[in-house]
Amino acid sequence: MGERAQQIPFYCDGSYLCEPCAELCRTKVQRQKPVKTKAYKFNYQCQCKFMRGGCKLRYQGEEGVVLSEEERSKQKEDYKKYLNEKLLMMAAREVPLNRLNQQQFEFSLESNLENAMLYDDEITRAVALSCIPPEIVDLASNPVQQLKELVNWFKFEFFSWCDKPPCPSCKSDQAVERVGSDTPNAEDREYHASQVEKYLCKNCKTTVRFPRYNHPMKLFETRTGRCGEWANAFTCLCIALGHDARKVLDWTDHVWTEVYLAQWERWVHIDACEPLFDKPLTYEKGWGKELTYCIAFSSKEMVDVSKRYVVDPVLNRMRRDRVNEKWLADTLQQRREALWSMQGDSQAQFLRKRYQIEQGHLDAGSAHKFPSEPFQPRQSGAQ
Ligand SMILES: [Zn+2]
Ligand SMILES: [Zn+2]
Ligand SMILES: [Zn+2]
Repeated sequence: MGERAQQIPFYCDGSYLCEPCAELCRTKVQRQKPVKTKAYKFNYQCQCKFMRGGCKLRYQGEEGVVLSEEERSKQKEDYKKYLNEKLLMMAAREVPLNRLNQQQFEFSLESNLENAMLYDDEITRAVALSCIPPEIVDLASNPVQQLKELVNWFKFEFFSWCDKPPCPSCKSDQAVERVGSDTPNAEDREYHASQVEKYLCKNCKTTVRFPRYNHPMKLFETRTGRCGEWANAFTCLCIALGHDARKVLDWTDHVWTEVYLAQWERWVHIDACEPLFDKPLTYEKGWGKELTYCIAFSSKEMVDVSKRYVVDPVLNRMRRDRVNEKWLADTLQQRREALWSMQGDSQAQFLRKRYQIEQGHLDAGSAHKFPSEPFQPRQSGAQ
């Protein structure tokens, strides 16, 4: 082993490893022209997205060096240690306080909380319950079965995906094209549609509006939308069935649901769009997403659940550059305390305890051990 290799340890067993993600992915593409530096040959480029393709693959530079098994495993250990220290160092860099980013973040927190509050409305819940087939309602004694049937019915019978709305005169979306946005009218605002997409049918020149409703009551009538509408309506249906459910907003472009299963004593991930049941790593492993912030919302709490959905919490931490971590943790804690205190003493105590147990799960990464089936690529479109 040369001196250089000791300075910058690298793991060499004949395979090419990318430096920042060595333990996570070993996919590679052959470079058009191998890059040669003094110490290393870069014949391949990592395809992983963790460093946006910018990372280089490292291979033993000196030719003809044969390592013993012992040397190999030592190199491997050194390399792992080196990587870990480097990643932790990068992750420890604090995001500076930034008022504009914080305001935008808080705005998202507020509007999503306001939205989640709607799930508790008695009339909305009654309407929700009336939509669900009685045979699913009757499965109350078997919550797992009930939720699995609910998500299948929701995906395949109840709700429809809408990339673009159909033209009302042509009864088709064939010639419909997006032409911009429209101002929300009184009805749009009543049902919490702050965005209205505007489309034009090239066939008959009809203008078609697509208000992005956030009120579940309205969604039980329209029964269409993208993942935002899907998750909103589905989370509300879970609550109507008596489950403790929350909506999870992923800051990169998706929305899904979590339901607390008392019999499993933990939160379970459910994605109505796909549908997925208890497969939290699908987004990163199956879709190749690079998650940043995933925040769960209900009328009772607001929790940063990102760790449940990420392959590597250190890499996740490196990508979280919107707001200062301490600011975010404090902000969420304040909201939680306020929401808990509205629930009364004994309920607040119960929620606080459950939250602490959940934090333990998230920190231990134990949620990652549950899913074992292969991860499927994305079925639905984006938000
Ligand atoms: Zn890689
Ligand atoms: Zn890489
Ligand atoms: Zn038309």
